[in-house]
Amino acid sequence: MVRGVRFQSGRADLGWGTSPKMWPKTSKTERKKLVISEVVREEEECYKIKATYDTLPSPQNLHLWYGSEEISQLCGYQNSSLQHTLSSCKTALTQGLYGRRHDQVLRSHRKRRLEANRASPATTHGLIQFVRQGGEALGSSTKEWSLLSPGGNWELRVDLDHQLKFPQQIDVTSLQPDIVLWSAIARTVIMVELTVPWEDGLDSAFERKKEKYADLSAACTEAGWNAFIYPVEVVC
Ligand SMILES: [Zn+2]
Repeated sequence: MVRGVRFQSGRADLGWGTSPKMWPKTSKTERKKLVISEVVREEEECYKIKATYDTLPSPQNLHLWYGSEEISQLCGYQNSSLQHTLSSCKTALTQGLYGRRHDQVLRSHRKRRLEANRASPATTHGLIQFVRQGGEALGSSTKEWSLLSPGGNWELRVDLDHQLKFPQQIDVTSLQPDIVLWSAIARTVIMVELTVPWEDGLDSAFERKKEKYADLSAACTEAGWNAFIYPVEVVC
C-alpha cells in the first residue's frame, strides 16, 4: 500500500498530478531513473527496519532459522551476529568500514551545522523576564536557547578530508576532536566527538570521550575560554 503511494508521489514529481500531465511526456531514461531511485529508497528503508529489529539474514539468524552453519563472507566468523558485523568485526575495522561509516555520519553533522550557521541565528534568550506587579507576563514566544551566540563569527573545523588541527590560539594540543566550533568574540570553544557504537556501548562511549577531552577542556578554561565538550553517540 505504502509502496503504491510512494510511486504515485514520485510520478507526481514529474508532473503526474499537474495539468497538463507531464509524466507521459517524460523520456524513458527519466522514468527509469525515477523508478530505480524509488526502489532503492524503499529497499533502504526496509533494510533499516530489519536492522533495528535484527531480522536481517545475518549468519546468526540463518543459523537460528534453518539450523544451518553459516560463515561471515567478510571474515569467515561462524554464525556471526549483526552486532559482530556492525561493531566488533576486526576485518571490518582493518578494512576501514567502521571509519567510513563514522565519517559519513560526521559529514551529515557538518552539513547540518553549516546549514544552521547560514540560517538566522538565535537572538535573546535565557534571560529572566521580570514582570511588574499587576503586569502580564509575556507569552513564551522566546526562541530556543542556543550556545552559538549571534554575531560571534563562529568558526568551524571538522576532522574530515584532512586531519583537524586544533586552533592554536586556544591551545596547542595533538588531540583532534571530530568537530571544533569557536568564537574569539564570545571566547567560547565547543568540541564535539562523535562515536557510532552498538547500543550496549552507549554509556561507556560517552564517558570515555568525556574523559579523553577533560584535560584539553581545562587548558582552554585556563586560557580564558568557555569550553564545552559534547560527546555525541549515534547508535549503529
Ligand atoms: Zn568478523
